[in-house]
Amino acid sequence: MRIAFIGLGTMGLPMAHNLVKGGHEVAGFDVQGHAVARHVDNGGIGAVSAVEAVGAADLVITMLPNADHVRAALLGPDGAREALPPSALVVDMSTIHPLESDALRAALTDREQGMVDAPVGRTSLHAIEGKLLILAGGTARDIARAQPAFDCMGDETVDCGGPGTGIRMKIVNNFMSIANNVLTAEALTLAEKSGLDVALARRVMAGTVAGQGHMNTTYPAKVLKGDLTPAFMLDLAHKDIGLALEVAGSANVPAPLGAAAREQYTLARGQGRGGEDWTAIYAMMRELAGLKG
Ligand code: NAD
Repeated sequence: MRIAFIGLGTMGLPMAHNLVKGGHEVAGFDVQGHAVARHVDNGGIGAVSAVEAVGAADLVITMLPNADHVRAALLGPDGAREALPPSALVVDMSTIHPLESDALRAALTDREQGMVDAPVGRTSLHAIEGKLLILAGGTARDIARAQPAFDCMGDETVDCGGPGTGIRMKIVNNFMSIANNVLTAEALTLAEKSGLDVALARRVMAGTVAGQGHMNTTYPAKVLKGDLTPAFMLDLAHKDIGLALEVAGSANVPAPLGAAAREQYTLARGQGRGGEDWTAIYAMMRELAGLKG
């Protein structure tokens, strides 16, 4: 395929390189000339503008910091849109606000231009190895068109369920991993301040729900089956997180996420859920968000 690749940064440069290695003709553009030069060193074609990069492309990939950059690159004064062949498919792999992604799709599809939102999971090391997780949101036909390129950049593509779902899946996934990072830091700091061996604490927690994650253990066993009979009672979870916060407080370990979590258990108990399974937190959250069933 002839591919235009816009945004040759930490992620984009190795992704474009893997497309070149996969036998595609890749015209790369970045506002930083040295990034374009590196793309040329990698066997790609250098372009001096987005417009030049997209000439005759089958696929136009954007991998840019945020929505303003994607809009500028695609729809701005020197943007790609004017030169886009009508048959070209736009694939935005950046992590941007879903509503901005929807607006871009609307602007492009006005001109009957197909678009797939396809942000990536994992890290820049995976980008180098061609082992990204690609979260694709688009029509099945458009995802199939982009699949040969996805196969060069990643080792797993997930069809997230239609236009706009890839970016939403990415945002939810990031929410979970980024918030978990803070809780992980709180727990390991508490372990160390309590005089525990951190490596040992990590090993212990890797063998419990703490490290294995509720999504892989308690949720499928209980709340996702609609079963709130207690395997571990919410009242007891409330007591235990209270103990942990007392220990943290007396050791001067700040635990803001843990403290916020305790209040959710307090709220659930106030709603009469103290005798339910601790995963009833999810049932309560769904109710608070107005979800039914
Ligand atoms: P980066 O800042 O390293 O690269 C972005 C590149 O875009 C830069 O080289 C910049 O010069 C270029 N650029 C900016 N505006 C441009 C324009 N109008 N036209 C052409 N080029 C332009 O960022 P990155 O780490 O490669 O991240 C790219 C996207 O991928 C972001 O949305 C990020 O959130 C997401 N992401 C990053 C990682 C990671 O580990 N770095 C992982 C997953 C997803």
